[in-house]
Amino acid sequence: MPLDEYRRKRDFKKTPEPEGRVTGAKRRERFFCVQKHLASHLHYDLRLEHNGVLLSWAVPKGPSLDPKTKRLAMHVEDHPVEYGEFEGVIPKGYGAGIVMLWDRGTWTPEVDDVDVALKKGDLKFTLNGYKLKGSWVLVKTSGHYAGARGGLRGTGAPGSNVGRTWLLIKHRDDWSGELDITEFAPRSVKSDSDFDEILAEDSPAIWQTNRPAKGGDTGAMFAEIIERAAKLKAARRTTQNSRKPRRKK
Ligand code: MN
Repeated sequence: MPLDEYRRKRDFKKTPEPEGRVTGAKRRERFFCVQKHLASHLHYDLRLEHNGVLLSWAVPKGPSLDPKTKRLAMHVEDHPVEYGEFEGVIPKGYGAGIVMLWDRGTWTPEVDDVDVALKKGDLKFTLNGYKLKGSWVLVKTSGHYAGARGGLRGTGAPGSNVGRTWLLIKHRDDWSGELDITEFAPRSVKSDSDFDEILAEDSPAIWQTNRPAKGGDTGAMFAEIIERAAKLKAARRTTQNSRKPRRKK
């Protein structure tokens, strides 16, 4: 326990310093989500609710259940809590693309002071989502992590990478393993949709951002998804049309 040493060094009958109770509230469950975000590059945004915002890391390759596989996680700006349930389309500007709610649930800090852990660059926590469970850690790197430059591209994270590179690592437990979770469970936990189906919605949810547009190439993958979405819409129209005569019978 982090406060054991603090307590050991003090006799609370002789000092006015507070005893420093570790309340259960500090380790209470909070909302977490992972949004699979197809912007100029595909990445996974891990968001942990804390102090009324969503702490956010962009994970280019997505989380790995294998403790040996450390995944680069770029610390990006806090997001509003209401964004955490969002799935749909960001039409233009910063982060423009398609957002899928890939996982959600609760997270519980394995430390008593999240802010101290963040400052230290070592945040241990437990996830209880649909896809991600068990114990994890986010560890801040010295800043010049080899994969950082390439990894950041297209995540929508502005500015320099220095000081923002962390690693997301699964701890060994009942929920770790070699299963590639991003391959195994690629779809939305909200709608069971894939990107093309989210985009093909007749009126997809739209998240407006007023941030300036950021450069970045729209990949072939994006073009392919737009094409597939158009086909889905077209197919739906055909199905709807062919259903009509049947109703007349
Ligand atoms: Mn993103």
